[in-house]
Amino acid sequence: MKSKSSSASPDGVNPFAPPEGGWRRVIGRFKGQRPGPKVVFMASLHGNEPAGAVAIGRVLKDLHERQMPFAGDIVGFIGNLKALNADVRYLERDMNRMWTVDLIARAQQPHRSDGPQGPGSGIGAEWEELKEAQALLKMELDGSTQEAFLVDLHTSSADGVPFACVGDTIRNRRFTRALPIPILLGLEEQLDGALLEYLNNRGVVTMGLEGGQHREPHSIDRHEAGIWISLFSAGCFPGPVPEQVVQGRRLLSEARCNLPSVLEILHRHGLRNGEKFRMKPGYENFTKVTAEEVLATDRSGEIRAPLPGRIMLPLYQGKGEDGFFIAREIRPFWLRISVFLRIIKAYRLVKHWPGVSRHPNIPHTVIVNKKVARWYSIQLFHLLGYRKRRANKDLLVMTRRAFDQKKPDQIRI
Ligand SMILES: [Zn+2]
Repeated sequence: MKSKSSSASPDGVNPFAPPEGGWRRVIGRFKGQRPGPKVVFMASLHGNEPAGAVAIGRVLKDLHERQMPFAGDIVGFIGNLKALNADVRYLERDMNRMWTVDLIARAQQPHRSDGPQGPGSGIGAEWEELKEAQALLKMELDGSTQEAFLVDLHTSSADGVPFACVGDTIRNRRFTRALPIPILLGLEEQLDGALLEYLNNRGVVTMGLEGGQHREPHSIDRHEAGIWISLFSAGCFPGPVPEQVVQGRRLLSEARCNLPSVLEILHRHGLRNGEKFRMKPGYENFTKVTAEEVLATDRSGEIRAPLPGRIMLPLYQGKGEDGFFIAREIRPFWLRISVFLRIIKAYRLVKHWPGVSRHPNIPHTVIVNKKVARWYSIQLFHLLGYRKRRANKDLLVMTRRAFDQKKPDQIRI
């Protein structure tokens, strides 16, 4: 890993330095002359990832200075402001694992001092952050009848090719495909409480953008490129395609390295406290791995790849709950098939399949008895627009995404 000193440019200016007066929750806003979409950019949901915040500041400055034809309005936020100011991923609790209905309700309540304290509690730090960030998102997006977008900007501890993380809806795919970088589906299915999933379920079109290593200046440039292209894809430029979009496409295409266009996460190696997880050196995002390859060690010995594929988000830093993920390419043929199946509403047939029954309480949800329906793979449900909610040895609970093809009449946060 590169040291922090690598972030200084040749003229000695640190591109990651906070703006004068320090970071603030709202980085800035821009409103076009015409009505149009609402686009929200979220940066530094992990506090050790300042690149997205710097990039949003640059784009907003450019938009204000150039006054090009623009439709809609945009805003940039910082997710975990306290952690960004402290230059740590989080103080008490990972803020990209807190976006569930239950935890958000808990964040609204005053915290008792006799409750659990210390690591993992979130007290004194992330509960307040969650409450503020959620209130801002509600203010910006709640009640919107226009198409609304959220782009969540991240960087990682290992360097590598930039990529987009997308919940697999047709609307998200359409928004993201303007970016000439690999698209990774299914990460949100492996995690509880990710911001993008929370907003997807409320009808917002979302994309996560991984720019590169935390302190590499090129991560800022890639985020800047991603922001310009997202604005274009959202329909914010009614006039000629701005030069920044063209340059952004060039920059991201050059960074891309012939990787597959679309991949799907098939495996997560989760961590528990005290396992002493150590990733073997030399892995980056998209590094190919073979089945049984030794990827890491922990207290109980070697950790091997359970299946072949490509490594994603290998953990080389102290904090985190995910050791690594393994992804595999999805061929364009299957993507087209899945669009077709969803348009003809093939998901309606699922509840008639042997071993599959409608969930008694949760809408758009089925329970799959794996003993009976052994040959239905999760991938088959993915094609039809379902995502995994829970799984154990015998049962699989799958929910169809609510706003796959159509936006809601009104967004409710
Ligand atoms: Zn992050």
